[in-house]
Amino acid sequence: GTDEPLLSVRGLGVRYGDAVTALRDVSVDVPQGGIVAVLGSNGAGKSTLLRAISGVLTRQAGRMTGGEIRFAGERIDGVGAERRVKSGIVQVPEGRRVFAHLTVQENLRAGRYGNPKGKRPGDLERVYDLFPVLGERRSQAAGLLSGGEQQMLAIGRALMAEPRLLLLDEPSLGLAPKIIDRIVDLLREIHGQGTAMLVVEQNAAVALELADHAYVLSVGEVAIEGAAERLRGDDRVRRLYLGGE
Ligand code: ATP
Repeated sequence: GTDEPLLSVRGLGVRYGDAVTALRDVSVDVPQGGIVAVLGSNGAGKSTLLRAISGVLTRQAGRMTGGEIRFAGERIDGVGAERRVKSGIVQVPEGRRVFAHLTVQENLRAGRYGNPKGKRPGDLERVYDLFPVLGERRSQAAGLLSGGEQQMLAIGRALMAEPRLLLLDEPSLGLAPKIIDRIVDLLREIHGQGTAMLVVEQNAAVALELADHAYVLSVGEVAIEGAAERLRGDDRVRRLYLGGE
């Protein structure tokens, strides 16, 4: 029905090798058109959760030990990473990871994955409308962009694949507060154009400002969950993740 979440993770367990249990019985939903945040400190399992959803766990010698992942009602945890991109799950990787020696425009074209050539000639223009600085620098090597601009390029590249769900891994990492505000505004605008988001962040203040709903992961388990507004006022969240008293 229409109440069905766009993404539904149920009872997810993940291990790396035989020794490391990275996630235990994790359940997370992203409603249609929602923005959901996952908070947690270093090593809590945030990146592992994104890898399980995007389907790249095995590249890190990880594997699911239990649970299921559904997207738009379909079971996807047995499906390859490429097919997940084509179905609309697109990740913006941590640390930007743009192709430094390619131009801005070549980077954007490389993101047109699962979105056949020529089908949507307006997509580059859409990205340049959202991020005018990328249009101005379209012929420059991506490695010459500032950190904030590289983050914008990584988001723009993901948009080229026409995501229904954007997975964002620490979009604020290493950026100055003013640039973070700008990125948050842009993500809101993209969300307003109809893209759901799952945002992983160590910066809880940023995540709770952007999201409607949030989960706190602690040592591989969901420790706290609720409306972002409620979590902003939650004592444990304030003490542990917002630097409050
Ligand atoms: P960070 O923000 O530091 O990346 P995180 O919350 O994203 O932290 P993960 O990277 O998902 O956490 O790591 C969760 C746990 O799994 C940690 O204990 C980590 O050491 C372990 N882990 C992650 N990747 C691997 C791997 N390839 N092999 C073994 N253990 C791993």
